Amino acid sequence: MSIRLRLTLWYTSLLGITLVLSSLLMFFTVRYSLHNEVDRNIESRARQIQHSFQEVFSARLDPEIMMSQTKILAPPLETFSGPDLYIQILTLDGQIRDTSANLGGRHLPISNKALERARQGRTTWNTWQNGAAQLRVYTTPLSLGGVIVANLQVGEYLGEVDHILRKLSTILALVVAGALVLAAGMGSFLAQRAIAPVDQVTQAALHITRAEDLHRRLAVPGPADELGRLVAAINEMLDRLEMVFRSQQRFVADVSHELRTPLTAIQGNLDLLRIGAIDNPEDRHAALAALESEVARLSRMVNDLLFLARSDTATKTSHQPVELDTLLLDVFRQAQILGEDVSLSLGHEDQALAMGNPDRLRQVLLNLVDNALKYTPKGGQVTLSLFRDKGWSRVVIEDTGIGIPAEAIPHLFERFYRVDKGRSRLRGGSGLGLAIAKEIAEAHGGRIEVESEEGKGSRFTLWLPAIETQAAAAPSEY
Ligand code: ADP
Repeated sequence: MSIRLRLTLWYTSLLGITLVLSSLLMFFTVRYSLHNEVDRNIESRARQIQHSFQEVFSARLDPEIMMSQTKILAPPLETFSGPDLYIQILTLDGQIRDTSANLGGRHLPISNKALERARQGRTTWNTWQNGAAQLRVYTTPLSLGGVIVANLQVGEYLGEVDHILRKLSTILALVVAGALVLAAGMGSFLAQRAIAPVDQVTQAALHITRAEDLHRRLAVPGPADELGRLVAAINEMLDRLEMVFRSQQRFVADVSHELRTPLTAIQGNLDLLRIGAIDNPEDRHAALAALESEVARLSRMVNDLLFLARSDTATKTSHQPVELDTLLLDVFRQAQILGEDVSLSLGHEDQALAMGNPDRLRQVLLNLVDNALKYTPKGGQVTLSLFRDKGWSRVVIEDTGIGIPAEAIPHLFERFYRVDKGRSRLRGGSGLGLAIAKEIAEAHGGRIEVESEEGKGSRFTLWLPAIETQAAAAPSEY
């Protein structure tokens, strides 16, 4: 069932229920007040009759005589009756003494219960069904000088009231039905208008998907209402999808490109070896060494790629407290072997603890130090320092190397990004080192910052959330 149909149905049924309930309330209120008016009219007529009886008869007359003379002395009932109003006088035991002429020989019905109640001085209301019409009858004792001498009955046909009520119910039914038809029509139209932009958005989104045109965006309809926000959210999602898609494309292209170069070199050397073009044992040795180094580079790159692929989906590995000062010293010792022509030194060193995986943190530091050594020419200086500030530990790796151009800094941590491809490859770089370092730093809740000036040097800072050092956490007891 479409939203449009559901909205229309809901709207129409709610309106229908409200209209039917209010119509019923109105109908029964009108019916009650009309019936009430008839009863008041009958009552007042009965009071008038009672009153004129008392005037006609002298209180001095004996009630027995009065009764026997009723016919003669009673006021003419015609003065009180009306076209729909009938009057009848009965003896105490129910014998008809007099009727208004409009009864034409017929008489008003009387129940034994009403007679009984009248004898006790109480009045009774009865409604009799006479064919299609209803007859409302009021029975009341007629008393003279404090003695009940007869029963008076006043009856009125409810024909006029019934007629009004029938008319009212027809009008109400027509109004309710008309309003429902109108509401269904209007509701459907309004729902259609409200839903139409959703259809447009659906069509546009489908178009983008089918045409694989991630570049297109949905037009934002009108004001920033729910729909506007939905479209904005879809557009944002498309931005992100496009970005991921493009970077994926770039990544695949980069990987293929990166793999092709060593593979071409390997293929070339293999060809030369196969056709026996290299007789000289020294050249053969050199070719094999080149083969070995390219294979080593390939396997390093595949390992790096695997690491990055895993860390994309990896859940946090188990973390433990790591003494950063000890770790930095380790890295320093290890790097001393690498930096042959560059002077490597330790600068400021605080004590600092961080939660993390020591192997991964060592990998970050080694990547950064390795870069510093690689991109610092002979005679340069690389300094490693460790600072502990409020809540953070900072490992700073500073070099006096070739530096990085300002426009390259925002891309530095992208996979396969190299400032100068030729030079970097010569130094054995694949452009994955900093991407890996960034990934690890972020997995530890930290980040890496770069400051650099071309020709002067670079400073890489690894920020890690600090935890209390053991010495500070557990104060000495002495
Ligand atoms: P690579 O494996 O090529 O070194 P990285 O991701 O480690 O890849 O570094 C990306 C690029 O950043 C490098 O190609 C290099 O041009 C530049 N770079 C990184 N560290 C330094 C540095 N300390 N000095 C100058 N350039 C650097």
